[in-house]
Amino acid sequence: MSQDLQKFTDPAFDLTILVQGFPGRSLCHGGLGWSTIALLRLEGRVVVVDTGAFSARKAIHAGLARAGLTAADVTDVLLTHAHYDHSINWVLFPKARIHIGRVEMEWALPLWGDPVLPELYVRALAESPRLALITDGDVVLPGIRAVRAPGHTPGCLVFQLDGERRRVLFSGDAAKNRAELVSHAADMTMDEAASRGSIEMIWRLWRDRPDTLLVPGHDLPMVLEGGVPTYVGERRAGVAAWYDDDLSKTTLFDFTRAPNV
Ligand SMILES: [Zn+2]
Repeated sequence: MSQDLQKFTDPAFDLTILVQGFPGRSLCHGGLGWSTIALLRLEGRVVVVDTGAFSARKAIHAGLARAGLTAADVTDVLLTHAHYDHSINWVLFPKARIHIGRVEMEWALPLWGDPVLPELYVRALAESPRLALITDGDVVLPGIRAVRAPGHTPGCLVFQLDGERRRVLFSGDAAKNRAELVSHAADMTMDEAASRGSIEMIWRLWRDRPDTLLVPGHDLPMVLEGGVPTYVGERRAGVAAWYDDDLSKTTLFDFTRAPNV
């Protein structure tokens, strides 16, 4: 399993995938929550797109350190939506402006006890002077436009970054993985019809620029090859489990490919 982080460059930006998303769900323990976290550098800004779950904190700090940065260097955090596995680590970045959809915050703020919303983190964000609320079509940062993509949650956003040589689409959980993009249907959505519409919108933006890299919420980045979503890079995912009495002995489960492939 390679430890190299995936990097993509353009005259207008540098993109590093700090943590790869994984297209799976846990069978007995609720959500798996292994989501994509991306680092963008553009025009003097240091931007993190989605912040992962608690378990991603070490990887975030390690990835920033490898780029010669600390969390305090991050100027902006873009949140695709309020679910815990994308939003909860906004608190790691003491100087960043935290951008999230206005509709998303209005939906999430009154909720208490939702299975995947971090209530106290949403409330703290609502009260933070660093909160920046986004509406559909806003140019959030130079070259980055927010596009509303409801369905998975009411205020999900897609971030569209237009560089000189390529477009990047951060689809968040509006299109979580390759299977959703290929099937044009969504798992875990609050509104199936809205999700379908959002996936169609993502496809329009994707086909609009053939140089587009799509970075989904829970999968590897993809490009279109002959009109087909095609993974870029190697998947890194696995679990080490203690099934024996000896702490030094672990059983490894490699999640990088389907067992029969
Ligand atoms: Zn989500």
